[in-house]
Parts: sequence; C-alpha cells; structure tokens
Amino acid sequence: MVNLSSKKLRFLAGTVAVAGFAALAMPAQAVQSRATAGEPTPVQSKSAETPQSVQAESTQRSVAASSTTNIVRYNRLYKTPAIPPSKCKEVNVSLRTAAGVSAYDKQLLTCMWAAWAPVLKAAGANYSLKPTLIIHNYSKVNTHCGVVSGPTSYYCGYKNGQIYIPWGYIASLWKQSPTYARAYATNTLAHEYGHHVQFVTGILNASWTRQRAFSTSAAKLEENRRRELQASCLGSAYIGANKRYYPMSGGLYTQWQYLVTHSGDMAGHPRDHGSFANHGWWSNTGFYAASSKTYAGRCNTWNAASSRVS
Ligand SMILES: [Zn+2]
Repeated sequence: MVNLSSKKLRFLAGTVAVAGFAALAMPAQAVQSRATAGEPTPVQSKSAETPQSVQAESTQRSVAASSTTNIVRYNRLYKTPAIPPSKCKEVNVSLRTAAGVSAYDKQLLTCMWAAWAPVLKAAGANYSLKPTLIIHNYSKVNTHCGVVSGPTSYYCGYKNGQIYIPWGYIASLWKQSPTYARAYATNTLAHEYGHHVQFVTGILNASWTRQRAFSTSAAKLEENRRRELQASCLGSAYIGANKRYYPMSGGLYTQWQYLVTHSGDMAGHPRDHGSFANHGWWSNTGFYAASSKTYAGRCNTWNAASSRVS
C-alpha cells in the first residue's frame, strides 16, 4: 500500500512523532537514567562487555573521561570491513497481530545478528551475543533497566541484551498503512540492534558514563543525541547492506525515507534525539554506501561537528 496522499502521510508522521518517536530514539538506558536513586542500575554494573568503562569509573574522572572518549570515538568498530548483506527476505506476514509482529521481528533479528557478527568480531566485540526479543503490548513493562511505559521500543543492555517491541503500536500503524508499518517495524528493530552493537563494543556504557560526567544539560543532551543518531545510522547501515534482498525499494523505500526524515526531536520536548534533518542525514549516511557496501565506520557520530548532531 503505497498510494498515500500527502495529508495521510502527514497524519502518519504525527503519529510517529508522538508515540513512535520514543521508539526510535529512546534506549533503555534513558529509562534507566530516570530511575530513582534507590534503584539499581544493572546495565552498567552487570555489563561484562565494557570492562574499560567500568574500570574508568573507579579511577580519576580525567582518566575516565579520556578512556570513555577513546571508546566512543576511536572504537575498533569504525575500522571494520563492510557489513555483509544478510540476504534475508522480508517475512510476508500481516503485522496486525502479536503473532505477526513476532514472526516478522524474530527472523529480522536473526538476520541482523548474522550480518553483524563478522563486523563485531573484527571489532573485537562479543559477536555471538544475541539479544532477546520481547514482543509485548503492556502499558507498563518492568525491565532490568527500569519501568517503561507507553508504546516504546527500547534496548536494555542487560545480560545478552534485550529488545522490547510493542506490537500493538505497530498493529495500529498497519491499519493506516501496511507499507508504513513494515518500514516502521524494520527500521525500529534495526535501530534497537544499533544499540546492541553499541553495547557489545562498549560504546553504550561509555557514552552513558560520559553523559553522567558532563556538568551542563546542554552537554548531556548532545551526548544523548550522538548515541541515538549513531544507533539509527548503524540500523540503516544494516538495512542498506541488505537492500537488494529485502528489498528496500519502491513504496517501502519511500515510506522508510519519510520515516527517517520525520523522526527526532519535536518542539516542546527535550533535545535529546536530534533534529529531523540530522536524523535523516545519519540514517541516509548509514544506508548509502561507498560503492555498493555499507560500513559501521561511517556512523562515528562522536567525530562529527556539534551542528551535525544538533
Ligand atoms: Zn534509541
């Protein structure tokens, strides 16, 4: 279903901006950071994948700052070879039900895991960790990263990593436009997997350590945007690598482009995810390849000017 009027597209974008916005942009750690002081922070304390950041926290702040900067900005991830196409096709199933969304995302997750493995191996990361997929339709979910409410997709860096997807929200999009719902479901899972890539390479925890260490809210927000925009870039890099097989073309591509250029910060909300323009820019940077390949190295948002992550 591609034939949408511009009015309909605007309506859909509004829907995304209100509810899906968080799905695209809010990681579990964002939720975790809002947890009250008495609650544990399992992501950080139990992550065995980021020994450098844990160690850094126990040393002087200046040492911690420089080592976490090394992790986010000079990570081995940025020197890895091209992301191979998973060669997985899109699952032909209705996203109207929990079973449909589950079948769709289950295969997509396995495909992402397989495609990212050689890249993560080259980065020296734990490439065999496969995140757990939780398809739910609760208004509130208790996770190891805190309580999350609303139709929010998110990543929790706990154990092997956990991806939460609210199927009801995707089903509501499906009623309006199945093509848009497919673009949304694909892009959202790819974004969350981007956080998983950050998790196993140590970037996720290092970034949170940096964010907490900054003294101004402007600096904290910029760090948040660099992390989120990178997750979108990495997700799009997977989608771009596999675009001939999935395939990301025609109506699905049109809807995907609309989605990624209309996701990000809205007026009246915290500037923690990036402008629509920058979200679109990083998504397309990930998606489009040098020659016919895509590289995680193109997603170094920590090497970008502040204006590019505004
Ligand atoms: Zn995110």
